[in-house]
Amino acid sequence: MIIDLRSDTITQPTAAMKEAMIRAQVGDDVFGEDPTVNQLQQKAAEMFGMEAGLYCSSGTQTNQIAISVHTRPGDEVICSDLAHVYLYEGGGIAQNSGASVRLIAGDRGRITANDVLRNINADDAHYPKSTLVCVENTMNKGGGAIYDMEELKKISDLCRSKGLKFHCDGARIFNALVASNTSSQEFGSLFDSISICLSKGLGAPVGSVLVGNKDFIYRAHRRRKNFGGGMRQAGFIAAAGLYALENNIERLKDDHRRATEIGIVLEKLDWVKGIFPVDTNIVIAEMEQGVKAADAMNALAGIGIRCFTFGDDKIRMVTHLDFHDEHLKLFTEKISKTNRDMITNSVSERIAGMY
Ligand SMILES: *Cc1c(COP(=O)(O)O)cnc(C)c1O
Repeated sequence: MIIDLRSDTITQPTAAMKEAMIRAQVGDDVFGEDPTVNQLQQKAAEMFGMEAGLYCSSGTQTNQIAISVHTRPGDEVICSDLAHVYLYEGGGIAQNSGASVRLIAGDRGRITANDVLRNINADDAHYPKSTLVCVENTMNKGGGAIYDMEELKKISDLCRSKGLKFHCDGARIFNALVASNTSSQEFGSLFDSISICLSKGLGAPVGSVLVGNKDFIYRAHRRRKNFGGGMRQAGFIAAAGLYALENNIERLKDDHRRATEIGIVLEKLDWVKGIFPVDTNIVIAEMEQGVKAADAMNALAGIGIRCFTFGDDKIRMVTHLDFHDEHLKLFTEKISKTNRDMITNSVSERIAGMY
């Protein structure tokens, strides 16, 4: 049995999800005629108290569409220096929107209203125009860190008072909501747009939904066309997303519990210096002095545990739908037998944990 903790994207659709996919009613979504896609878009929008939704192929696409709708070339986007929109979307902000980026060093990738205030440019021809703030919740590179709702409210109020748009990269938004007992309605009320991934912890094979008001989604739909993102009988895959929203949210708590357990086990190892606080389903372990993350990753692969490196000195493990208590038990047995010598003697190779 391979224990795969590389990402929550590696899950297989369950039998019930596949059943929902097979039974989906479909139509040509480019004509707006796919009933299942329409249902998914409406459900996602309603969950967050938004007017409309747009089904897209990926979270990169929903983020990039949102950024390009909210900005004009030459504008500036304010976000964390660890943000997925900046680090892991192929330079898309520059390429697709012609916008510059103002990076903020936050707390595990979380920025504050004060940070934002200090980084909004004065209305002066010398400076790019600050028009958009992006936050990520949970924060992948911050080890699944959750934003404090009070801070988000402050950022939201600030954006509204200064005329900036506020976007959330919610690739793992349900992990954040479930772990902090926050309602999606309350969360949605703070933002102009939210990108929701169905293919992470929710376990669907593909897809993300962008939600916002009608005018925003109208413009996002035009942009999706430019990006070549129109799909035809997409209801077959949208059905998996709908199934995920209806069935796979509450169970994220199990992923969080197992991630916490993994953190406790890792912390005791002589090659691990410490772990980031485990808020949700992501565990980041920092290596002891002289231990390379790539060596750890390779040594673990050799005993059937797969994970990714996060920079030179950290590894990341992510729990998900296909990681059960039996996997946790086996993981604990296997990893407890590892030691520093075994890790440092393994062969090095670099793979970044960007998914
Ligand atoms: C996975 C992820 C995305 C979207 O990635 P896709 O692979 O394009 O779906 C966006 N933001 C974060 C934080 C992610 O983890």
